[in-house]
Amino acid sequence: IATLYVVATPIGNVADITVRALHVLSLVNAVACEDTRNTAQLLTRFGLHKPLIAAHQHNEREAAETLIARLQAGERIALVSDAGTPAVSDPGARIVDAVRSAGLRVMPLPGASAAVTALSASGLVNDQFHFVGFLPAKAKQRDTVLQQLRSVPATMVFYEAPHRIVECAEALAAAFEPTRQVVFARELTKLFEEIHRCPLSEAAQWLAADPHREKGEFVVLVEGAPQASDAQDVEAERILNILLAELP
Ligand code: SAM
Repeated sequence: IATLYVVATPIGNVADITVRALHVLSLVNAVACEDTRNTAQLLTRFGLHKPLIAAHQHNEREAAETLIARLQAGERIALVSDAGTPAVSDPGARIVDAVRSAGLRVMPLPGASAAVTALSASGLVNDQFHFVGFLPAKAKQRDTVLQQLRSVPATMVFYEAPHRIVECAEALAAAFEPTRQVVFARELTKLFEEIHRCPLSEAAQWLAADPHREKGEFVVLVEGAPQASDAQDVEAERILNILLAELP
């Protein structure tokens, strides 16, 4: 039955491909992908050779038309991005929308996603998270977005490109309380994986301590806004300490 399979691929360690992903990739007629060279490389590692269709952010609309025509002819097609889950800070959402609107079947194959991988090993205890993804590149727009996020109570999840990580850390430290915890999840599932947690006030220092840190891919997690009850507890403790100091 004609289906568009939305297939998650590894975010570093190729062994993170799922058994189901390999099965589906081996049975589809074609693979629609963000970058044909990257996907060809991945498929070759698993001994797979499939016709590839370019489906990147600059041609999503046309790619969607091509895919719909092929699906209507009864084909099965996989949609992948360069790494992780398609359509999450990656191309794919427009294609999925168009295929669904055409009344065709879309089936997701879960797998790696940098955001969830980072959250799982962060140790930040919060049942809620707010996915921000990439911040705007321009400082003014970025700072406006950060101001809007100041009162979000959930853990915030940011994606950042290596060449902007230092600037991003500075902007986060300027926008949020310096006591909030931040987690840098770097090079997840890769050889130089690092997951570091510290108060925002120490973030710049940690990044500067090793120049290699400015390379590699990052997910940055920031603790949500302090809750009123936390603030009250802090205030109560402050007053208690003053009183205790005065007691004989
Ligand atoms: N769709 C992907 C997903 O679900 O994980 C995300 C793609 S987005 C274009 C790429 C960004 O994801 C990177 O800039 C980085 O923030 C994050 N990322 C991807 N792989 C990563 C890894 N191995 N370690 C840390 N962050 C990663």
